[in-house]
Amino acid sequence: MLRSLFFAAAGSARLERLVESAPVSRGVVRRFVAGGSAEEAIRASRELADDGLAISLDHLGEETETAEQAHAVRDEYVGLLARLHDAGLTPPAEVSVKLSALGQRLDEKIAYENARAICVAAAEAGTTVTLDAEDHSTTDATLETLLELRKDFPDTGAVLQAYLRRTEGDCRELAVAGSRVRLCKGAYAEPESVAFQSALDVDKSYVRCLNILMAGEGYPMVATHDPRLIAIAEDRARWFDRSTGEYEFQLLYGVRPEEQARLAAGGHTVRVYLPYGEQWYGYLMRRLAERPANVAFFVKAVSSR
Ligand code: FAD
Repeated sequence: MLRSLFFAAAGSARLERLVESAPVSRGVVRRFVAGGSAEEAIRASRELADDGLAISLDHLGEETETAEQAHAVRDEYVGLLARLHDAGLTPPAEVSVKLSALGQRLDEKIAYENARAICVAAAEAGTTVTLDAEDHSTTDATLETLLELRKDFPDTGAVLQAYLRRTEGDCRELAVAGSRVRLCKGAYAEPESVAFQSALDVDKSYVRCLNILMAGEGYPMVATHDPRLIAIAEDRARWFDRSTGEYEFQLLYGVRPEEQARLAAGGHTVRVYLPYGEQWYGYLMRRLAERPANVAFFVKAVSSR
């Protein structure tokens, strides 16, 4: 119920204007977002790198409406990658991009060209790009773009969402040598026709997908905060004889930082997904939809003012 409320809120432009203008929102958002500018994102990346963590930076924004906006997003990433390189942060930093922010809904070719320009900049900087997964209506187009990009940039990462019924099949296709695949549960409100609805079914699907990726020849990127799934991933990595450099864990900035430190101290590669930018509303609403404790944090911050 609460979950659907936040998903509905995520789509409301009126509420977005209201929440973004409230001074308290900015304080709350700082828990999950590195800051508004590339400079702040680089500062936060440096702190994470000093703690032995890898990073995937995401410039916030989705559903771009014009080609000009899409090109501006591309230019932001290209500039960010150059700055990360100058700061000596590539590696451990890579970038995550949403094709909808690069113009996917306007014209898939525009999104592909923009993503390609970001891949070129990433290769020049000595790092990689991962294509975020968005709602299910974009999955085919995103995976097609991925396959095109991988012809020239084979280390371009994919994201697969365990809640989608199709994902086991996609895991099989992508569990090949050189392929980097982030497995997450999935963050959008999806209909029963395409997605498992109960938490248990999503978790079971996650484990089935994890088995396929760990057994395969690619590089699994285990993106979850779920302690049970993290323990299962550690177990499956041992079972399939993968050393700690042959898979990684990924967690969101501001979520379970003590677990991020614990996994890194245990010798695992841990990558923190680090969003920055002014368009944080949709991202924040998805985090609130995921976890009642995040809502309590939000309400506490609002009522303490
Ligand atoms: P949940 O079911 O949300 O949580 C499971 C358990 O984890 C909880 O019961 C609790 O024990 C623990 N937990 C979770 N949050 C907290 C917390 N704040 N504090 C303490 N314990 C906590 N989704 C997409 O759709 N597309 C993407 O491209 C995408 N990229 C992602 C990248 C990364 C690195 C990560 C980590 C997630 C990404 N997601 C993406 C979001 C993902 O799909 C889930 O919505 C999100 O990660 C929540 O799922 P969960 O696996 O953490 O499990």
